[in-house]
Amino acid sequence: MQGYKIVANNGTYKIKTSLKGKAILTIPQLNKGTAFSLEERKYLSLLGKLPVQVETLEEQVSRCYLQFTRFEDPFKKNVFLNSLLNYNQTLFYALVVENLVEMLPYIYTPAVGSAVEEFSHEFRQPRGLYISETNIDDVDEILDNRTNSDIKVIVVTDGEGVLGIGDQGLGGSDIPVAKLMVYTACAGINPNNTLPIFLDVGTNNESLLADPMYIGLRQKRLVGERYNIFIAKFINAIINKFPGVLLHWEDFSRDKACYNLELYRNKILSFNDDIQGTGVIAAAAIMSIVDINKSTLEQQKIVIFGAGAAGTGIAQQLFQVMLLSGIDFHKAKSLFWLIDKDGLIHEGSNNLTKLQKFYARESSELSSWQESNDKLSLLNVIKNVKPSILIGTSGVRGVFNKEVVATMKQAVELPCIMPLSNPTSHVEVTPNDLIKWTDGKVLIATGSPFSDVYYNNSTYKISQCNNALAFPGIGLGAMLIKATKITDNMLYEASVAISKFKRSDNDEYLLLPMIADSQNLSKAVAIAVAKQAIIDAVATVNMSDAEINDELAKIHWDPEYLSYDLD
Ligand code: NAD
Repeated sequence: MQGYKIVANNGTYKIKTSLKGKAILTIPQLNKGTAFSLEERKYLSLLGKLPVQVETLEEQVSRCYLQFTRFEDPFKKNVFLNSLLNYNQTLFYALVVENLVEMLPYIYTPAVGSAVEEFSHEFRQPRGLYISETNIDDVDEILDNRTNSDIKVIVVTDGEGVLGIGDQGLGGSDIPVAKLMVYTACAGINPNNTLPIFLDVGTNNESLLADPMYIGLRQKRLVGERYNIFIAKFINAIINKFPGVLLHWEDFSRDKACYNLELYRNKILSFNDDIQGTGVIAAAAIMSIVDINKSTLEQQKIVIFGAGAAGTGIAQQLFQVMLLSGIDFHKAKSLFWLIDKDGLIHEGSNNLTKLQKFYARESSELSSWQESNDKLSLLNVIKNVKPSILIGTSGVRGVFNKEVVATMKQAVELPCIMPLSNPTSHVEVTPNDLIKWTDGKVLIATGSPFSDVYYNNSTYKISQCNNALAFPGIGLGAMLIKATKITDNMLYEASVAISKFKRSDNDEYLLLPMIADSQNLSKAVAIAVAKQAIIDAVATVNMSDAEINDELAKIHWDPEYLSYDLD
């Protein structure tokens, strides 16, 4: 399949290959560049094909870091890092892991947003697998054409609901690649066990369809039964080819995300990061709010602006958390107000999804609210509900304006405002404005990374409600224990583990751990998820706490060059 194997040799791993010369330098899993030893150069027919200095990985990382800093434009930094991965996987991860806080925003959100939009223009090298309706009947052959043989984690998208930028067609294929980088950088999942897959079912994005450089399927998106049959064929092939694999659904449209998750979550070990991962991290933030405020979950009133995949996913996860913490079903449901394009979602709203309908407010409650016959606006909801928590998952820039924030602050001493939309250009409000408008008396978590805010001689660190704090650990835990499914309890325990994680920053007003802690955090989340899988009887192996720890250490992948088997 790939011309090389990684073999165990007296307790250490070595690369065995029959490839020689230039071919070795073009395969990112094999290439060491200037770090090939003289012996390896001779054996692999690389003599004279490399500069004479033999360097260490650390020396190579220093050079790459220098090159990285020479780019000012975030998008160019993203392109640089991706091209490094195209020729040397170990060097790429060594650079990223050593500089995780600095580099995560360039391999993942927000910079990946520009990469997605520019995909067909900047295209240099394919990554992962592309499956479309034109070749779905050859899906087995396509899966056999993968580069890595032993696949444990797949991230898949059809590119219809990318970040806050919607249908990006083939451009969305950058997202599974970026998510898998995060699995490796934050949770130590071996990149040789991962596979990004793009399902090319067309695009409804007119500017892409009209762009002569667009290299995706140039047709409108598959819909209805044809789409469902396509997905069913894909899932069946994955189940047959990779029994036990973890399938991570990413950036599907709201309706398809919910539909696919419900249909398949009991058939294949899978989860949807937009719905469940976002829910887990938001629930962790809310558990922290309760700790900071010395309040209870039952005392919260939560307004979610933008009731799409992320917004309803957050509501669902928080709702589960409330039930699991003993709050009665009807009381828990009554703590949510969801707003979408047509205003507050209520019994009289049209075209609601199943989840939106669940949270629809009773019309009787709203009779005294109506200022006019118009839809019930965000400001109206804030005035009447007096929420303690306001979450933005709409992709509507600046919608949490000064009036909205001031109105919320009038009723609540320490409101929590979470503008989660990505990329940065779509954020509902910036932390800078929030701190200015509330005189710093506000709890904040954002979707994109923001720098510290300096206000009135104080420095405010900004928590990032980054799914990267949740999904790598959830995936690692489920993989480790060979779970058959990811239960709601496992997700709940992931939130608890994140909110209770002992952080290195010691800042009691930070709602979430910082990215700098993400590797230790992923371990803590994985342990919590694995233990709950055992309790929920979905683990296919049984392990004691000590065995879980040992196994975690054993499977953790570090970016280090392997020696070649020269025998
Ligand atoms: P989505 O398209 O499924 O949902 C967006 C929703 O906002 C839709 O239901 C849409 O109708 C609604 N909306 C659009 N304009 C509106 C308006 N003017 N008023 C009210 N509602 C409006 O997208 P999604 O996957 O749910 O993602 C939404 C946003 O959340 C994105 O920007 C995404 O990047 C962000 N997000 C953040 C995190 C995180 O911070 N951890 C995780 C997931 C998603």
